[in-house]
Amino acid sequence: MTRQEVIDQYGRCVIGNYGRVPVVIVRAEGSRMWDNDGRSYLDLFPGWGCSLLGHCHPRVVEAIREQAGRLIHVDNTFYTVEQGRLAQLLADLGFGGCSFFCNSGAEANEAAIKLARRVAGPSRFRIITMERSFHGRTYAAMSATGQSRIHQGHAPLVPGFVHVPFDDVDAVRAAITGETAAVMVEPIQGEGGVVIPDDGYLPALRELCDEHGLLLIVDEVQTGCGRTGRWFGYQHAGIEPDIMTLAKALGNGAPIGAMVARPEVASALTPGSHATTYGANPLVVAAAIATLETIARENLLERARVIGEYILGKARALAGRFGFIEAVRGRGLMIGIELSVPGAEIVKAALERGLRINCTQQTVLRMLPAMTISEAEIDEAFEILAEAIRECESRLVTT
Ligand SMILES: *Cc1c(COP(=O)(O)O)cnc(C)c1O
Repeated sequence: MTRQEVIDQYGRCVIGNYGRVPVVIVRAEGSRMWDNDGRSYLDLFPGWGCSLLGHCHPRVVEAIREQAGRLIHVDNTFYTVEQGRLAQLLADLGFGGCSFFCNSGAEANEAAIKLARRVAGPSRFRIITMERSFHGRTYAAMSATGQSRIHQGHAPLVPGFVHVPFDDVDAVRAAITGETAAVMVEPIQGEGGVVIPDDGYLPALRELCDEHGLLLIVDEVQTGCGRTGRWFGYQHAGIEPDIMTLAKALGNGAPIGAMVARPEVASALTPGSHATTYGANPLVVAAAIATLETIARENLLERARVIGEYILGKARALAGRFGFIEAVRGRGLMIGIELSVPGAEIVKAALERGLRINCTQQTVLRMLPAMTISEAEIDEAFEILAEAIRECESRLVTT
C-alpha cells in the first residue's frame, strides 16, 4: 500500500482522535525508524517514552519470541512464574512494595486512586493533584489530570480531585482537609513541560502526608524504570512513596503497567476488589523482565546520566545560538527545551529532515531518547535540529 492509501484507509476506518503526521512507519531499530517509502528517521522520542532501550532491543525481542512459543496468555485464575519474578524485581529495585499489573499508565493510576480511596474510607475521598499534571485519559485518571485542555468536552468529571500549583508545598498544605485521602504527584512533570521541582519538594510532601495520615502516590509512568538515571524518580529525593505507578518504559514497548504499593496499603485490594483480564500477561511480563534486567546488567542507569548530560550540553549550546530558547531542563533522558515561541513548526521541520522530537505545552521541545543512543546519533540529531530551527527562525521571531 502507498502512504496515501494507508492514510485514506485511516480516514474511512480509524477514529480521528490523534493528530497524526503523514508518515507510515514499517520498521524500527534502536534510535531509528523507517517509513514505507524507505526514508529513515532518527528517533529521540521512541514510542512516546516507551522504548527506553531503543526500538526492538534484541534482548526484549528474544524474550518475547521465547515466551510466545511457550505461553502467551493465561488469566489471573492461576499463578505464573513470570508475574512473581517481575513483582519481586520491582520490590527489590523500589521500596519493597507489592504489585498489581495492568496494561497502561492510566490503568495503573486508576488502580492507585481506587486503592487510596479504599484505604482512606468513604468520608475521605479527596485526592490532591497538581496543575499541569498528566495522569492518563480514563475517567478518574483524566479527572486527576490538572489540565483543562484534557478535560474539554468530558464534563462532569469524577469528583474528589483538587488541583494545586506544582512545586508549591504551601498550596498542598492549604488544600488538605478532613476529607483528603492522598497526594498524587509526578516526580518530574513530563507532559506538563519537563518541569523539575525543587529538591525539597518531594521530601516536604512526604512529611505533610505523614503528618496528616495521607497516602503519597507518585506517578512514575514517565519518570520510572531508569528514565532519569535512577530506577525511579522519587529516588533522587531520598524518600519513599506509599504507592507508585509505572507503565511506558516498563515493557520497552510491550503494553504493561503496574501499581506498586507498600504491603500494609496494598492489602486493601482484597480478592475481587479490582481486576483486569490481561494484567501481567506472560508475553508482556517477559518483555518487562528483559527490559529491567538489561538495564541492570549493562549498567544503563549510569549511561542514562552520562548521555543525559551530553544532550543537555548540546541543548545549552543551541540556546546560546538562538535567543528564543528560554531555558534548557533535564534529568537523565528526560529533556525539555523551553521556547518563547510555539514549537510545533520546528518539530515539523525536524521531521521533514529525518529527526523525530516532540513538543509539549506548545512551547517546550521534548526529548525522551533511548539509553542505547550513541553520541554520534545525538550529534546528528542536534545538527538536524539546528537546521530546522534556522529554517523556522525568521517566521517564529516575526510572528
Ligand atoms: C503517559 C503518562 C500516563 C498515561 O499512560 P498511558 O499508558 O497513556 O495510559 C500517566 N502518567 C504519566 C506521568 C504519563 O507520562
